[in-house]
Amino acid sequence: ERLISAATTGEDARIEESLRPGRLAEYIGQPVMKERLGIYLESARRRHEALDHVLIFGPPGLGKTTLANVIAAEMGTNLRQTSGPVLERAGDLAAILTNLEPGDVLFIDEIHRLSPVVEEVLYPAMEDYRIDIIIGEGPAARSIQLDLPRFTLVGATTRAGLLTSPLRDRFGIVERLEFYGIDDLARIVARSAGILDIPAEDDGAGEIARRSRGTPRIANRLLRRVRDFAQVRADGRITGAVAASALEMMQVDQRGFDTMDRRLLQVLIEHFGGGPVGVESLSASLSEERGTLEDVIEPYLIQEGYLVRTARGRMATSRAWRHFGLNPPEAPAG
Ligand code: ADP
Repeated sequence: ERLISAATTGEDARIEESLRPGRLAEYIGQPVMKERLGIYLESARRRHEALDHVLIFGPPGLGKTTLANVIAAEMGTNLRQTSGPVLERAGDLAAILTNLEPGDVLFIDEIHRLSPVVEEVLYPAMEDYRIDIIIGEGPAARSIQLDLPRFTLVGATTRAGLLTSPLRDRFGIVERLEFYGIDDLARIVARSAGILDIPAEDDGAGEIARRSRGTPRIANRLLRRVRDFAQVRADGRITGAVAASALEMMQVDQRGFDTMDRRLLQVLIEHFGGGPVGVESLSASLSEERGTLEDVIEPYLIQEGYLVRTARGRMATSRAWRHFGLNPPEAPAG
C-alpha cells in the first residue's frame, strides 16, 4: 500500500477519528472557506434554521469528513454518515431520510457515485423536504408523499465536475478545499503530536509538514511512522534530523513525492519524452486507474508545477525534468 496514499483503513481510521478537530475554531488552515462558512453557520443559527446544503470538493485527506462533523457540532445537531456507493437502492436513502431529526446533518461521501435512481430521490428531498414513495406494483401502484424535517445535506466529492448538474445546482453552498501550506501542516502535526503524546520539536514537525503532499491525512500518518523511527533509532524525540532520516528511509522525498508520484513523472519523461500524452495511455503504462491518477496523484503535481494538463494531454514541466537531474527539452511545458 502507498504509504502516503490518502485512503484510510482499519486502525488508521480509528486514530484518525481521535485526531479530528471538533469545532470550526480548531479546524486549521483554509482561512477563506472558514470565514465564509462561519458566517453561514452563525446566520442559520440566528434564524433557527437548518444550514443550506453544502457541497465540499477536494482531493482525499484534505478534511471533507472533518468539516461535515464540524458543521453538525456548530449547529448542535446529529451527524448521519453514508456514502454514494453504499446507497444501492432508492429505499436505502429513503430509510435514512425518513429517520432524520430536524436540523440533522446528513453527510454523503463520494456523492458523485450515487446511482441515478437514488439521486432522483434526493432532488425533492433537498428542494422541498419531501420524498415520493411508490407503494405496490403494476396498475395498483400509487405514489405517496412523505414530508421530511428540515435537514442539511453535506456532500463530498473529489471533483465538482463529476456531479450531474441537477444535483450540483441544489447545493446552496459550494466550497473547495485547497492543499495546505507548510505552516498549516506543521500546526496540524504539532496538534496531533500533542493529542497522541508524541514529543515533537518544531523542526521535526516542519520536516514532516514539508513532505506531506499538502495533505493533513498524510501528515498525521507520517507523524506516526516517524514516531516509530524516533523510538527505535533515537531517544523518542522527533527532531528535524530524526524526521529527515526517517522520511528518507520511507522514500518520501524532499518535495513530499512518494513512489507513485515519481513513477508518474518518470514514465511521462522516459516513455513519452515528457508528453503530451493522453491520460488513458499514462494510466495503462502505470497500471493505475484513470480516476486515481486524476483525483489523487495529479492534483498535487499540478499545483506544485511539475505537471500540466493541456488540450493534447499531460506534459512534464521543466521543473519535473530537473527534479530527476535531467535537462528539459527545448520547449518544455510550463
Ligand atoms: P477527507 O474526508 O477529505 O478525506 P478527513 O476529513 O477524513 O479528509 O481528514 C483526514 C484527517 O486529517 C483527519 O484525521 C483529520 O484529523 C485531519 N484533518 C483534516 N483537515 C484538518 C484541519 N483543517 N485541521 C486539522 N486536522 C485536519
